[in-house]
Amino acid sequence: MAFDLLWLLLPVAAASGWFAARRGAKRAPARPDGGYFEGLNFLLNEQPDRAIEVFTRMVEVDSETVEVHLALGNLFRRRGEVDRAIRIHQNLIARPSLTRTQRAGALLELGEDYLRSGVLDRAENLFRELADTGLHTAAALRRLVDIYEHEKEWEAAIGAARRLEAANGGVQRAAIAQYHCELAEIARAAGRHDDALRSVRRALSHDRRCARASILEGRLEMERGRYRSAAESLMRVDEQAPEYLAEVIEPLGECFRRLGRPERLEAFLERVLARHPETSAIIALAELRGRRSGAAEAARFLAEALERNPSLLGIQRLVRWYRSHAHGECERELSTVGECMERLFEDVPAYYCTHCGFSGRTLHWQCPGCRRWGSVKPLHGMSVNAFLASMSGRLQTSGRPADAEGRR
Ligand SMILES: [Zn+2]
Repeated sequence: MAFDLLWLLLPVAAASGWFAARRGAKRAPARPDGGYFEGLNFLLNEQPDRAIEVFTRMVEVDSETVEVHLALGNLFRRRGEVDRAIRIHQNLIARPSLTRTQRAGALLELGEDYLRSGVLDRAENLFRELADTGLHTAAALRRLVDIYEHEKEWEAAIGAARRLEAANGGVQRAAIAQYHCELAEIARAAGRHDDALRSVRRALSHDRRCARASILEGRLEMERGRYRSAAESLMRVDEQAPEYLAEVIEPLGECFRRLGRPERLEAFLERVLARHPETSAIIALAELRGRRSGAAEAARFLAEALERNPSLLGIQRLVRWYRSHAHGECERELSTVGECMERLFEDVPAYYCTHCGFSGRTLHWQCPGCRRWGSVKPLHGMSVNAFLASMSGRLQTSGRPADAEGRR
């Protein structure tokens, strides 16, 4: 530990020597850098508390040592010694000699300390104060957003994210839309149907590409028995984020059945495939063709589609169709292939995060691994290449592909 701190402070000690020399040209200092060496000595003897005392005394004498304290506190926090980091930063903030900028820097660090130690209400108060000072505004607002997300205070998260966007903290509309969707889910669970629909529409007004909002809107409309508008909402997903089509094909089929127009699902899927080769649409269409014209027609359609756009899931389904109308030796051989593929698919998660590789069996709109919104995608819609990329991502991030919620 002492050596870590020592490395951190050596440049400061050198700089202090330079300052001392420079000042020495004007006036003779009594012990200009004695404090540094005294502090370093304590660190070498693994007495960081006494070192901190020394540095604290130095701050009282000379505000130029503020940076030493900030660095020290930061280091303690990174080492998990959060109480020490808090003491250092609290001492700093109590100094009346601090400039406005220095005080803001110390507030930011203290806020980080509180975050690390899990005292979220104190962290929140500090970041709110900081966001109002006009210094480190974006950093403070970003932390506030993190806190509100963690606490599931979605209204507050919306407010902080809007301020963050206004403070040049980057485009936040996709996140804001997700917060509105969270509010919609809460309202839906509480039976407040109209509130839920209002929140969903707010989500879409912030981010018209928010597929989650369209899926939710479709579900809400279905619950009200409004199947026509439900179908319109669900079909919108194709333009917003076709990788989520796997989530809407089934409810969409139900809407069309309820409307007495089941053939419209097939027409929709054909329109989808004319634009992009989504695996979930290919498989759903093969199944519809199979139901109407038999296994041979389904297999023919699927084989043609797979030649152009191969996918593991498509191949698995194709083997299933081939098996269903094979006989004798051929049937036995296809059974072996089919069973092997089924076993392989047991290990494949249904969803994975395109950013961090987190994988699982349920769709999280906020990735539990990297906390990103909208980065978890269904693997159903994945091509072979995307699937392999996801597997290599999982290996790179977790070191082992089994590190997934679905496997726990
Ligand atoms: Zn992730």
